[in-house]
Amino acid sequence: MLTVNPHAPMITIKKPELLAPAGSIACAEAAFTHGADAVYAGIGGFNLRAHSPNFTVEEFDELFRLASGGGKRVYAVLNIMPSEEMLSSLSGTIKQIADSGCMPHAFIISDPGVFLLVKTNCPDAQVHLSTQAGVFNSASMRFWKSQGVSRVILPRELNLEQIRNLSSLGIMETEVFVHGAMCVSVSGRCLLGTYFNGRHPNLGDCSQPCRLQYRITPDDPTINLPHEGFIVEGPTEGERFFACTEEPGAKCKGEESLALKGSGEGVYLLNSKDLCTIQILPQIVESGVSSLKIEGRNKSAHYVASVVKVYREALDMYTADPQNYKVRDWWTRELEALDHRTYTTGFYIGEPVKQEVFASKAQAGFRLAATVKAVLNGRPVVDVKNSFTASEPLNVLSVKNSLAPFEFTFSHIEELDGQAREKAVPNRLFILEGCSEKLRVGDMLRKRLG
Ligand code: SF4
Repeated sequence: MLTVNPHAPMITIKKPELLAPAGSIACAEAAFTHGADAVYAGIGGFNLRAHSPNFTVEEFDELFRLASGGGKRVYAVLNIMPSEEMLSSLSGTIKQIADSGCMPHAFIISDPGVFLLVKTNCPDAQVHLSTQAGVFNSASMRFWKSQGVSRVILPRELNLEQIRNLSSLGIMETEVFVHGAMCVSVSGRCLLGTYFNGRHPNLGDCSQPCRLQYRITPDDPTINLPHEGFIVEGPTEGERFFACTEEPGAKCKGEESLALKGSGEGVYLLNSKDLCTIQILPQIVESGVSSLKIEGRNKSAHYVASVVKVYREALDMYTADPQNYKVRDWWTRELEALDHRTYTTGFYIGEPVKQEVFASKAQAGFRLAATVKAVLNGRPVVDVKNSFTASEPLNVLSVKNSLAPFEFTFSHIEELDGQAREKAVPNRLFILEGCSEKLRVGDMLRKRLG
């Protein structure tokens, strides 16, 4: 869909696809009902989330049908860099997909050999190039275009101007990440885990050593330098700390003039902040990209629903009325309430500090209580994940676009056979009553934490 900005006729805004992660059917359902245009999912562990609940070819068939029913798209992720020994089973999986008749809307690959296997078994398949392939320039895009690739997922390390320039050449579609975790390595090409514990990130087995706490110690353990530390930039511009690996308040060597910060347990030296681009979404859309990708195939259905809902509304608001794009308060509240590290806009606009050295993770603000599975005579039937009582206020994340999350206390809980209950308990279906707002299939009821 094309929207022309009436106040700035030089800018033609192409509405990009909103692409969400699907680690499971539940995540895909959550993504689609809350507004994703497409999902990406791993098949058989041949992707960079080998420990995610990847799909078998049979399960992929179910996912494909779920997407097709709603006019949505599914991309199959096969972006590992396989060893020689893995080729035959990888080839077998691709052949199985081809034989199943449920062809994904595209395969996502990074290795030229995997590209060849896909094209040999599925000659008509669309192929997208993973960010792992590290395509940073137009020559590389032209090469892959000549091979038959139709879209490139650009590296997170590029800035907005570079993305705009590459997209404007029209060589192929471009896709960029808009939300989720980042790597400190180049486009996920990382050997940290391989060195630390023999787990290989490029085979989907990242053990995340970059998220651990580290202490800086002298090379020579016989040298006693108890007050070692290093300077880090604070969250406010110009703010600098001396991150001391000793107890807080210790007098650290050489940097007495700077404020001290540290727990004495080490710091998260390599810990990247998480990407969040809701503030700069207009610039990203104006850069001409075709797809906005949300990271997180290990994330829960609730996480996926929440991020998709926020970006769906933001994207729709911006493309409908570019002059009046404004980040709504509830978008920020919703994204802040998710399990995440400190947010950054990454490399897009030149933000200097992309590292969070004093904390690795923030607490989530919500816990999923239940999801609406059906509506019977106007009453929602919910699948309960965490127990709640009739008098407990719940927060509703609605599938209805532009309806902000709202709080409500249900007055009545009953079993499917009509028996009233004080409490809804996990892994069962219950009928609820008393919500003034109409609930819809896919709505999520959350308990506020803290
Ligand atoms: S260890 Fe960290 S930097 Fe390396 S691949 Fe894993 S998440 Fe990325």
